[in-house]
Amino acid sequence: MVPAARRLSFWRWGYEDVLPDPALLERTLASARAFFGEHAVSAEPRPAPRLEAISLPPPRVSLPAALAAFATIDPHERARHTLGRAYRDIVRGLACDFSCAPDLVAFPEDEADVARLVDHCAGARIAVIPFGGGSSVCGGVEPRVDGHFTGALSLDLSRMGRVLEIDAKSRAACIEAGAFGPAIEDALRPHGLTLRHYPQSFEVSTLGGWIATRSGGHFATLQTHIDDFVESIRVVTPKGTLESRRLPASGAGPQLERLYCGSEGTLGVITRAWMRLQDRPRFRASASLSASDFLAGARAVRALAQSGLHPSNCRLLDPVEAFTSRAGSGAEAVLLVAFESAHHEVDVDLERALACARDHGATLRESTTRDGERRPSQAENWRTAFLHAPYLRDALIQRGLLVETFETAVTWDRFDAFHTALHEETTRAVFERCGAGIVSARITHAYPDGAAPYYTVIAPAPRGHEVAAWDEIKTRVTDAIVRSGGTVTHHHAVGRDLRDAYAREVPREYREMLAAAKHAVDPAGILNPGVLLS
Ligand SMILES: Cc1cc2nc3c(=O)[nH]c(=O)nc-3n(C[C@H](O)[C@H](O)[C@H](O)COP(=O)(O)OP(=O)(O)OC[C@H]3O[C@@H](n4cnc5c(N)ncnc54)[C@H](O)[C@@H]3O)c2cc1C
Repeated sequence: MVPAARRLSFWRWGYEDVLPDPALLERTLASARAFFGEHAVSAEPRPAPRLEAISLPPPRVSLPAALAAFATIDPHERARHTLGRAYRDIVRGLACDFSCAPDLVAFPEDEADVARLVDHCAGARIAVIPFGGGSSVCGGVEPRVDGHFTGALSLDLSRMGRVLEIDAKSRAACIEAGAFGPAIEDALRPHGLTLRHYPQSFEVSTLGGWIATRSGGHFATLQTHIDDFVESIRVVTPKGTLESRRLPASGAGPQLERLYCGSEGTLGVITRAWMRLQDRPRFRASASLSASDFLAGARAVRALAQSGLHPSNCRLLDPVEAFTSRAGSGAEAVLLVAFESAHHEVDVDLERALACARDHGATLRESTTRDGERRPSQAENWRTAFLHAPYLRDALIQRGLLVETFETAVTWDRFDAFHTALHEETTRAVFERCGAGIVSARITHAYPDGAAPYYTVIAPAPRGHEVAAWDEIKTRVTDAIVRSGGTVTHHHAVGRDLRDAYAREVPREYREMLAAAKHAVDPAGILNPGVLLS
């Protein structure tokens, strides 16, 4: 549950009372000026939008008295539930464009409330947009719904944020869908347990959102996505409540909970899930290595991913990314490797991994073993920058910079050509649209058969055309990804923004199967219309 004393910003990342570190912001702005020229960075930040200046469309629908008690038309809440947290959302927020605000925002306290709301909305043809932390970066929570609906209701699960039960014997917990990352870990810590799922958006995203988007955690190999931790799930649909059986594994047909992983609110409202847990790690060992360039580093990553060692971190930063995140000088690629365990020391694993990486051309820079002590400096610098990045990003956007990321995955046989083509096409698109720019890359997740490269774009945004410019760049990037055999998303989900590209990635028959599944539980089509499926 969001602590009552703290409010989440209605237009930018995170809590209203948290701002980026001023020294870091100044340093980053100075680098941007040095790189792009003085003109590229506004002297003053674009003013934050004020609620009073925003004209929200009048609500078109209302709820019966019994349901109205936990719904609101409060302008702060309607604005906060209008946009996700992608670059194009922050820019539209700064421009006070909240034109597709939900008519209502509901905060159910329990599953019965959810069921009654869904039931009413199905009868009244009100679109229901399930909402966790609202950190979607693909238009997943934006009530962009057509005239087929009488209105749109954003269904915010944040008041359903408890860890309900812990089964220590099976090492699993029943957790409500609206639980935010920190609340989950706070509840599990006293039991020596962890869900061990840390997306960068951990602070302001929820279990239900993670499952609905097949979120990718911070850990680079083995259990990378939330899917692996879902033991069973409970979902409210207009046709009733569905629950899958708690089982460690099953060969009985396609699994219900797997169908809901990645359903993005279109097949039902996830209300709770039994999640597989792990003992909290105590032993850690990490190292940073350098490689002559990104593709050379990728060869070491592939060797590690295929070694059977399963490092918890195996993150490759290209020279630019290493420089901007203060993990390296900018002359070489940096490979961060880490192991952790609750049960045994991991220095031997690290030694094996280092030998493997060295065999593939990487050079050791720093290595540390610890149990519970401070992280080594380069890994620590990288981690601090990583968690701080969203606050910093929005402050940079206020100064006129375009800052955005995208991600994908591809098999190793195509990796080099894929990355080279994608990097070139992105750079070309950024230069043509913005006149200058930096495109950096990292590998966030590594598999025996491929990897997930992740790209960051920083450029002077064309003033007044920020959204159009990014949309054009992203369209070209997405075309290049689909053309070259990658996926349109490794973990950011499809939402409304990538729906058409996703349609090019999967067979028509499969989309029809999904549509039929939706029709079976949501015949009126009220659940997050326009997301995933047209
Ligand atoms: C700065 C930043 C960093 C990010 N880092 C990562 C990262 O490291 N890894 C990653 O995977 N993603 C990342 N994301 C994307 C985003 O945080 C994830 O998609 C996350 O899983 C969304 O969780 P949420 O609770 O905020 O969901 P929301 O944004 O509220 O919703 C996302 C989608 O899930 C649906 N949904 C939400 N709750 C439910 C529910 N209970 N039942 C059914 N449907 C539901 C919504 O309708 C919507 O379609 C990042 C985003 C930002 C802005």
